[in-house]
Amino acid sequence: MASLPTQNELRQAVLARRDWAVERLGGWVRHGSVLGQELSAQEYVADIYEEIGFASRFETIDPDAISGLPGYSPVDWSYKNRPNVVGLHDPASPKGRSLIMNGHVDVVSPEPSSLWTSDPFEPRIVENEENGETWMYGRGAADMKGGSVCCFWALAALRDMGFVPASKVILQSPIEEECTGNGALALCANGYTADACLIPEPFAESILRRQVGVIWFEVRIVGKTTHVLGTGAGVNAIEKSWTVIQALRALEAETNGPERIPEPYKGIDHPINLNVGVISGGDWASTVAGECVTRFRFGLFPGESLADLRARVEKCVRDAAAGDPWLRNFPPTVEYVGFQAEGCEFDADGDFGKALRSAHSSWRGSEPGQESMTCTTDARFFNLYYGIPATCYGPASRNIHGVDEKVSIDSMQRVAEVMSSFVGDWCGLERLK
Ligand SMILES: [Zn+2]
Repeated sequence: MASLPTQNELRQAVLARRDWAVERLGGWVRHGSVLGQELSAQEYVADIYEEIGFASRFETIDPDAISGLPGYSPVDWSYKNRPNVVGLHDPASPKGRSLIMNGHVDVVSPEPSSLWTSDPFEPRIVENEENGETWMYGRGAADMKGGSVCCFWALAALRDMGFVPASKVILQSPIEEECTGNGALALCANGYTADACLIPEPFAESILRRQVGVIWFEVRIVGKTTHVLGTGAGVNAIEKSWTVIQALRALEAETNGPERIPEPYKGIDHPINLNVGVISGGDWASTVAGECVTRFRFGLFPGESLADLRARVEKCVRDAAAGDPWLRNFPPTVEYVGFQAEGCEFDADGDFGKALRSAHSSWRGSEPGQESMTCTTDARFFNLYYGIPATCYGPASRNIHGVDEKVSIDSMQRVAEVMSSFVGDWCGLERLK
């Protein structure tokens, strides 16, 4: 095995690739890969894989093939023309430990985009801003195309120095991290496995230690439509939905009660969040609304059961309906579409955790933080169902899922430095032939 490059050599090689990395990230952000519109962003990243010497492959997702697997989330949409993409580096006689670098391609909607300072899908770079660093604004710049570019950046820098990983490395660009995780699940099910999985989610150069679970559900309420001239004879489904929202808020408060919060989450204010994400009701300003569907997101702690949470939600909705004269006779229905994601933990003291922490400390002079996150990531599939230790380690970000999302380019550079050392240590390096 070739001797490893020195830290100073790595620093120079990473620095020399900075403009390239910024340019590729900006180009990728322009492909606004919201749900159902991922294809051109996937084609774009496949080209980057090839550019850095990886063989790209498009992988279609067959929901029938994965719907029986642990971790699957039900959907009511199609997977047509919505492939995952992988990039493969597969040496004939691999020596080190194999590695997956996984970064979801999907981004959440930027709406209301009129509130952004500039077009969310047109990258905007501001130098010497917060912390004296350079930031790129754009939907997906931080969550999480910026993190993925850190991986490409590190691999490109190693390649520039004449090195490639001595073991198998799989780059993964799954769809649907933001709504189901079915993209990552399909890749695991298709046999894309390795000794470790690194997911560069934008968590400020900290390591993900654990994450909550997430469920999505929708509550459908029927009312009684009537012309507004006789409003008293109608029942407004939109207004009735408020009864259910209030009841679920009480369930949320109970769930965050001090006695229910496990030790690692005790220091976090309100770790389990209910979100009223979408409400669709009525269809005419002069008609009493006859139907209302509200879509919610709710959380659960690692180790808790999805079935138990679903039962608590359904009981809560049932009890709320029982106290209302109309809803008692026309009970709301609860359906599950999207995330049915368990929480999970990462062993930061295992070989992978130690190697990543040591790569960080060698550059930064101290241990990285270890975070208990109140959101989910694709790390759960690897950790829970495929025996692959998986964690997140990525750049600093602001306003992910919000207006004026941005990523620190300087933080990305630091992450690329750490990754270049980590890949050298975990995978080993050999001379590019
Ligand atoms: Zn993300």
